[in-house]
Amino acid sequence: MKEAQKPAHGRLLLLVYKMADLYKTLGVEKNATQDEIKKAYRKLARKYHPDANPGDKNAEAKFKEISAAYDVLSNPEKRKAYDAGPQQFFGGGQGGGFDASMFEEAFRRGAFGGGSGGGFNIFDLFGGGAAYGSGRAPARGADLTYVLNLSFDDSLRGVTTRISVDKDVGCPVCGGSGAAPGTSPVTCPQCGGRGTISQNQGFFALSQPCPRCGGRGSIIENPCPRCAGSGISRATKKYTVKIPAGVKNGSKIRLKGKGQLSAAGGQPGDLYVKVQVAPSPLFHRRGDDLQLEVPVSFAEAALGAKVEVPTTNGNISLKIPKGTPNGKTFRVKGKGAPRIRGGSGDLLVKVGVIVPARLNKEQRQTLEKFAALSHEDPRAGLKAR
Ligand SMILES: [Zn+2]
Ligand SMILES: [Zn+2]
Repeated sequence: MKEAQKPAHGRLLLLVYKMADLYKTLGVEKNATQDEIKKAYRKLARKYHPDANPGDKNAEAKFKEISAAYDVLSNPEKRKAYDAGPQQFFGGGQGGGFDASMFEEAFRRGAFGGGSGGGFNIFDLFGGGAAYGSGRAPARGADLTYVLNLSFDDSLRGVTTRISVDKDVGCPVCGGSGAAPGTSPVTCPQCGGRGTISQNQGFFALSQPCPRCGGRGSIIENPCPRCAGSGISRATKKYTVKIPAGVKNGSKIRLKGKGQLSAAGGQPGDLYVKVQVAPSPLFHRRGDDLQLEVPVSFAEAALGAKVEVPTTNGNISLKIPKGTPNGKTFRVKGKGAPRIRGGSGDLLVKVGVIVPARLNKEQRQTLEKFAALSHEDPRAGLKAR
């Protein structure tokens, strides 16, 4: 794409959109009283005043935006014209009439300073400004997201995988110019390649996208047969993605510049690979730790035991001390998920005491004997209340 192709389409829309926001800029309702507007302005102006935020460019821009909005809304006449809509506000409409003096005060106060070079750009009126205009970069392409499904084991091990992404690329036939091979786009005769048409309104130049070329500054006389002049074609691209060991569910890996092409000739977007990890039947992930429930019998919990416990990396033997209560958790260091920055989390083994559902005669008699020998009241705590 040529540099001259500016995404000027939608400038007027932007203008209307920006205009609709003056009330929002001050954080007041559309029917706010002059007093409310003044109060809102003073509060914001104190907060964003350059003296209170030395060197903060964002605060400075915000301050200008607030001042410009206040300039219009604090003046009943300007406010009325503004409320009536852009036709009235900027003239060209019936009976409205644009009065450049409306903004002179704000202009003198520097509310519109630092505009986009040379002429006074109407899009700087309400601060923020458009992302284009002289010397500013055209809009970048959209970001893309690819969802990569991983098994639980792969998420712990890490994998390197190839992914296929359908996306817009420069047309391979015309090289993205949109012109048939052997021809090239020509300078737009209507705007002379600027992409915009200017209408002078007092000291304003109201620029609109050129209707002939749509703001590109060039037109295509012989469109490329493959892309019909758009310069864009759809293709499947393959990328190699390295997923680090220990990656968490929902993590995103960014492939810079591998997103959507910018139709305006700007930087391409980024491609995000979003990792979706399948749950494990055994382990629950908690940060870098893994939790595992291990059932033990009533006798094992009471008498103590050595039990085999699975980890993500083979079995280990875990000592359950005598008198272990149900729900007790043991921490096995370093047997959790790998940490992206090195090392590993822990394995949290939670003991679940199993009560026998059925007893044979001998077991029952033995337990009855045990009960008769137990003098501790398990509900002593309840009686104390
Ligand atoms: Zn093409
Ligand atoms: Zn044009």
